[in-house]
Amino acid sequence: MLIKPAQSVDIIFKEDIMEKIGFIGLGIMGRPMAKNLIKAGYKLVVYDKFAKLDDVVALGAEGADSNKELAGKSDIIITMLPNSPHVQEAVCGADGILEGVKSSAIVVDMSSIAPAVSQEVGAALKAKGVAFLDAPVSGGEPKAIDGTLAIMVGGDRAVFDKVKPILEKMGSSVTLVGDIGSGNVTKLANQIIVALNIAAVSEAFVLATKAGVDPQSVFDAIKGGLAGSTVMNAKVPMILDGNFKPGFRIELHIKDLQNALDTAHTLGVPIPLTASVMETLQALKNHGYAAHDHSAIVKFYEKLAQIEVRK
Ligand code: NAD
Repeated sequence: MLIKPAQSVDIIFKEDIMEKIGFIGLGIMGRPMAKNLIKAGYKLVVYDKFAKLDDVVALGAEGADSNKELAGKSDIIITMLPNSPHVQEAVCGADGILEGVKSSAIVVDMSSIAPAVSQEVGAALKAKGVAFLDAPVSGGEPKAIDGTLAIMVGGDRAVFDKVKPILEKMGSSVTLVGDIGSGNVTKLANQIIVALNIAAVSEAFVLATKAGVDPQSVFDAIKGGLAGSTVMNAKVPMILDGNFKPGFRIELHIKDLQNALDTAHTLGVPIPLTASVMETLQALKNHGYAAHDHSAIVKFYEKLAQIEVRK
């Protein structure tokens, strides 16, 4: 669902521009997302436990010294942190959001975390009268910079409608998928499909290369057919160039598949293909590829067949 209503954006934008947004987590994704909000005219307060705030403050944001201080100054709080424990710490930990948050505030967690933790954090905030959405993203750093992320949201529709104009400054697709936790369930589904797709592409291209067929020709021949995919279009050129610069790091995909396996097992859902690709990622991590792009999954298959898929 593409949400860019031509007429209503300016009207909603003028109402919401009065509100102050707190942005926590200025990493690979959060930094360009925060900058897009500043460029759109929002007033921002920013905090990161480890990363510098300088360039975002230079653009006009106010720096805070803790999650608590930021919360006290913000009407809407966005978090973009690595994983569940970081979100739990930022919200519920010492000097956390819960200690400073206004009861009228809305917290939007855009990190990719375990759905059960989204529900826990949402319940802790609700006990203080604070609304919560889980709103993870897909698209990686280039789309964070362009403001064209796909954003999948869990929570109450009225709360979603209130923050949608803000999310539209960071993403070109903003979709409410269900109650709190549903955003991260959707993100887990996304991450399973991406990981398995890269593994399938890797296995197939290693076979074709070992059989003596030029992998570039294989790509050209099949990308427009049923096997073609956004993943294939993004990752095969990287594999052919031997370019494994992230992008999306293998260690982050391990985190996401672990959350997928934990969630699936809690629900009594076996996910054998995900478990298999998880072991591939673990092997790659052991061989020093944790910080490589996830397209380096091909290296696992290349080692097995003793051949490289390159131009
Ligand atoms: P990152 O590690 O680059 O950034 C996270 C930031 O959070 C860091 O700057 C860190 O200092 C800060 N932080 C950690 N704990 C904190 C705390 N308690 N309080 C305040 N700040 C804290 O990670 P990223 O690549 O920006 O990813 C963020 C989230 O987005 C992850 O859940 C990731 O899976 C997801 N994601 C990443 C990509 C990608 O391509 N990198 C794509 C889609 C989704």
